[in-house]
Amino acid sequence: MKTYIVGNWKLNFTVGEASIYLHKLLKTLPNYRDIEVVVAPSTIALQPLSLQVDRHKIKLGAQNAFYRDYGAFTGETSFSQLRGIADYVIVGHSERRYIFGENDKMIQKKVAAAIRNKIMPILCIGETESERAFGETTDVIRDQLIGGLTDVADDDLSKVIIAYEPVWAISSTKAAKLATPDEIAEVVKLIRKTLADIYGEKKSENVPILFGGSVGSANAGAYLTIPGVNGLLIGGASLILSEFVDIIDTAKRVRS
Ligand code: PEP
Repeated sequence: MKTYIVGNWKLNFTVGEASIYLHKLLKTLPNYRDIEVVVAPSTIALQPLSLQVDRHKIKLGAQNAFYRDYGAFTGETSFSQLRGIADYVIVGHSERRYIFGENDKMIQKKVAAAIRNKIMPILCIGETESERAFGETTDVIRDQLIGGLTDVADDDLSKVIIAYEPVWAISSTKAAKLATPDEIAEVVKLIRKTLADIYGEKKSENVPILFGGSVGSANAGAYLTIPGVNGLLIGGASLILSEFVDIIDTAKRVRS
């Protein structure tokens, strides 16, 4: 399986800044065949960047899209509009869940709409600090996973990526803490087991599971060697080109 290094730029960079970053990244990066590098800019930058990107080296991800293809949905961009432009889409990010009120039902529809439009969803799941403190991590992870995948048929599981992002470890969270490899390994095992219970062991083994939460060049190697972790979803550190390149190089080293 490839190793996925995904940069979530969130609400940062103008289109011009995004284009300059991509230009430099394309120049710096060798063509690592076993590392799938993805950057997810703001929606407005996706189309121009899709004309600039070399997809042998880097893929583009959307940070969000709406599940209906067209209609009276002011302000939304549909997956069908992003078809052929974005290769991946982040769905169910905790900022969408907790700032924009997205629930599992909406996330389920977004995952299905992404697959329908040949865009690979990166389904984010993760417990909050208080859910962990109250011993609810297992239930939350199961509910978010099962909820998000409700409309994903057996044969479509291979079109989905899961990202485990404990909300308390995300750098924008107040007093974010670093998740330990043991804490991550335990949840990744739970995710794999839940997938196996629904889709069977064989299919579940092939689903990439990423980790995200304050990943930087200093801890990327440790996180990438956790059993069952197939890549990283990176917020803050992906905004700094040299950091992002270091993380990609680390992935190459760790996986060689
Ligand atoms: C994220 O928000 O997806 C994320 C992982 O952010 P950070 O790396 O900044 O913690």
